[in-house]
Amino acid sequence: MTQLVVATRNRKKLAEIKEVLKGLDVKLLSLDSYKAAPQVREDGRSFQENAVKKAKKLARFTGKLCLGEDSGLCVDALGGAPGIYSARFSGRDKSDLKNNLKLLEMLKGLPLTERKAHYYCAVALADKKGLVGVVEGSCSGLIVFEPKGSAGFGYDPLFYIPKYKKTFAQLGEKIKHTMSHRYHALKKARPLIKRYVVGY
Ligand code: IMP
Repeated sequence: MTQLVVATRNRKKLAEIKEVLKGLDVKLLSLDSYKAAPQVREDGRSFQENAVKKAKKLARFTGKLCLGEDSGLCVDALGGAPGIYSARFSGRDKSDLKNNLKLLEMLKGLPLTERKAHYYCAVALADKKGLVGVVEGSCSGLIVFEPKGSAGFGYDPLFYIPKYKKTFAQLGEKIKHTMSHRYHALKKARPLIKRYVVGY
């Protein structure tokens, strides 16, 4: 069976990825199987560049089909920030809580109608010969005024889905996995993986 290495150390992301790729004829491996895997510097100018870099570097290291993922939150009122800097928005001493508090501070005074945002996710597939494909997905929402809920990670306590009148952190993984930016990107990645497995 073809092995697919998921190039992330984020367990919450990994769980989402496993859930959406369920049923494919591949054996998913995480970086836990590759303790000596190199760190990949996320210094690209876009989510795609970072995802491709992760996939290619890990594919060269493992010799296997690799999935690189890069994602983040883009807020309209901030010109798309924090964007590719989402993970380290609050600086070197970053944490999800500090990132959320910084975002709230920057949006202070804005009404809900001006707090539009979307999560964005780029997924790249590569093997040792090079890039197999890149896909993307996004998910729109609003940034609420205070953190709500405890599921998920990152900006989920602030990311509000009007249809459900709840944040992702209140909705929980089960619903998030059916509508997230990662879900949409991975849904597009599924046929690429299927084709790769057949032609391998
Ligand atoms: P990455 O590991 O460089 O892709 O960083 C992604 C960062 O974007 C995370 O640390 C979060 O701050 C944010 N992010 C991406 N996807 C999600 C999500 O599904 N929920 C909450 N935050 C997310």
